[in-house]
Amino acid sequence: MTPQHLHAVANLWSLSGVWPNLLRASEETQESPGGDLGTVQAWRPGSGVHGGGTNDQILEAVLRNGVGRDNPYAPRVEKTRSTITWLAEHLDLPVVATAPVDEYLAQFRTAVPQLRPATALELAMWIGEQDRAVRKLLERGDDHDLIPATRCPRCDTAGSLAIRTSNPDPHLRPIICTQRACHMPGGIPSIWTRHQLMEALACSSTTTAPDGAPQPNSPSTSEEASPSQPSATGPAETGSPAPA
Ligand SMILES: [Zn+2]
Repeated sequence: MTPQHLHAVANLWSLSGVWPNLLRASEETQESPGGDLGTVQAWRPGSGVHGGGTNDQILEAVLRNGVGRDNPYAPRVEKTRSTITWLAEHLDLPVVATAPVDEYLAQFRTAVPQLRPATALELAMWIGEQDRAVRKLLERGDDHDLIPATRCPRCDTAGSLAIRTSNPDPHLRPIICTQRACHMPGGIPSIWTRHQLMEALACSSTTTAPDGAPQPNSPSTSEEASPSQPSATGPAETGSPAPA
C-alpha cells in the first residue's frame, strides 16, 4: 500500500474506534431524565399551570436554559453520518440510508486498496477530520503511541515517531512522524508500515536503535496513531487530519 492508502486505513480504524463511544454518549444523554421540553411545556404561558400571566421573561429564560441542555452529541452523530454517506456515494459504494456508520467504515476499508492514491488521500483527510471532531467532543486523545528515543529516518527528530494503534492487528499498525513538517515526496505526511520503517531506519546513518525502537522481530507496537495530516490536496475543508 502507498502512504496515501496507509493514511486512509489508519484513519478509518481510528474513527471506528471512537464511533461507538459517540453513539453511546448521545443515547445516554437522550435517555437522561429531566428534559427541558417538559419544563418548557409546564411553564408555557397560558398552559394553566401558572394560570394567567403570560410572562415572556420567564418563557425566554426557560427556553434559553433549555437550549443549553440539548444533546451535544446528536449534531456530531448526524454530521459524521451524513459525511460518511456522502463519501460512500462519492466512492460508488452501495448507499443505504439506514446503514450503520460502522458498516460503511468497514466497506471503506475493504475498498481502499482499489482506490487511486489521490482518492485514498482524499478519503483519509475526510475521515481524519471526522475522527478528530468526534475525539475532541468526547475529549479523547488521538490513537498515537509515541516511540521514544528513536529518530525519524526522514526528519531526524528524536521521539517523533508514533504507532497508530487503532488497527486491531498490531502487525498492521502503521508508524507516522508527528512532526507536522515531516513529509514524504508529494507532500504526504510521513508514514510507514513496520517493514518499511525497519528498512528506512537501516538505511539511516542516524539510527541508534534505542530501546523502544521498533525492531524487526519485535512487534513493538502499541497502537496506532492517528493519521497525519495529508497536507496536500484534498477536500478543502478541514485541511489536515493530523493530530497534534
Ligand atoms: Zn519525521
